[in-house]
This record gives sequence, structure tokens and C-alpha cells, in this order.
Amino acid sequence: MRIGHGFDIHRFGPGDSVRLGGVTIPHSMGVIAHSDGDVLLHALMDALLGAAALGDIGQHFPPRDMRHAGADSRVLLREVAKLIAGRGFTVGNCDLMLVAEAPRIGPHREAICANIAADLGIARDRINVKATTAEGLGTLGRGEGLAAQAVVLLQE
Ligand code: MG
Repeated sequence: MRIGHGFDIHRFGPGDSVRLGGVTIPHSMGVIAHSDGDVLLHALMDALLGAAALGDIGQHFPPRDMRHAGADSRVLLREVAKLIAGRGFTVGNCDLMLVAEAPRIGPHREAICANIAADLGIARDRINVKATTAEGLGTLGRGEGLAAQAVVLLQE
């Protein structure tokens, strides 16, 4: 078995929605990002690549590569899933944590999990998505952005 960890953070900017787990969630702000700024999927991809010792998403999808401008992170996640499968790995489980004062993802949790299950080709009961606030502390607590952490287990 292989374990992997991922982290991502993005700053809020002008806009009226954020993408989380491939779901567009209405919000009073958007996210400043080269891609769609989906911190949940970015953290997940880094965890998957980390567990397989395949580097990180910056290596596979360089931000300076204009093909990735505004990229749908679900497309990138499916590419990562192919890489992982090509190395003979299957995903045992993944656990994702959003850290943000807002928006709340509770109402969108099932849609997010369904997206991840479809993109990774695994059962819903191998995926957990949870969230916490930063209790008003620091940059995340001031609502300047949002962050995510992910842990995954791969099986050879
Ligand atoms: Mg990112």
C-alpha cells in the first residue's frame, strides 16, 4: 500500500462562484487561479501523484502551459487517474478536507463525491469529503481564500 498527501490554497478574487470538487458553488467571491482553482481536486491530484511517487501536478500540468489556462480540474483528475492505473495502482480510499470560512459544502457533498467517484472509477464509499472553518484565525479565517488537504491510499 502507498499513502499520499496533498495540499492546495487559493486566494479569493472577483467573481460570484467557486469550483469545488467539480461543482460550481455560488459565492460572494471567485477564486484567483490559472485553472478553475478547484482546491479540493488539486489537493486530491497531488495526493494521488505523491502516493505513486509521480511528482506533483505542477510537473504534469505546468501553469505556464497555456493549454491548462482555465482548465477543468476534472479533466486533469481523469488524466491523473489514468497515470495511476497505468502504474498498476488502484485507489483504496481518499479523505478530503476543505478549510474555509465559506462557502459551506454540505449541500454539495454528494455531488462532489459522485464526481470524484466517476473520475477515479471507484465506489462512493471509498471517498470522504469534509470541511472545517479556520475559527477566524489567520488568512483563511479572515476569508481571504480557501484551502484543502487530501490523503489517499493506493493499492498495488
Ligand atoms: Mg491549485
